[in-house]
Amino acid sequence: MRDTLVLNASFEPLSTVTLNRAVVLVLQDKAVVEQAHPELRMRGAAVDIPAPRVIRLCRYVRVPFRRQAPWSRRGVLVRDRHRCAYCGRRATTVDHVVPRSRGGGDTWLNTVASCAEDNHRKADRTPEQAGMPLLRQPFEPTPADAMLLALGHDDVDALPEWLAQPAA
Ligand SMILES: [Zn+2]
Repeated sequence: MRDTLVLNASFEPLSTVTLNRAVVLVLQDKAVVEQAHPELRMRGAAVDIPAPRVIRLCRYVRVPFRRQAPWSRRGVLVRDRHRCAYCGRRATTVDHVVPRSRGGGDTWLNTVASCAEDNHRKADRTPEQAGMPLLRQPFEPTPADAMLLALGHDDVDALPEWLAQPAA
């Protein structure tokens, strides 16, 4: 799913939302489109607007405690740009560096993108035990990192057919 960057009324980046959610915010007059995808429109029964890439909220909202990007499997794949942490090939799964069976958690620092083969091969072991060193260390993305990663990650095919069509 392609995400839309949400700016506060003060132009400060807040977070990302799904394209569908962004369109709803615009249609409800809660946000305005600051930047649209050049070749993508959102079309439905009563909708035909450029697909928003960046929207800005009409009213300023306070978000004092939003410091961390929430962990998700998809987020890990996007952070690691779908590259396997063990071999560098395309990754489709998320591996726990310290396996869950050994107390490893669902956290940014304990999870990496992995190809299915390496995930299976590493199994219930740490990288040291498996003799599979990490090509790079996992890191905790800032909310800004998460937004930029989401914006740079084009995935038009994931949009529902009825909503997204290329411009004529
Ligand atoms: Zn691999």
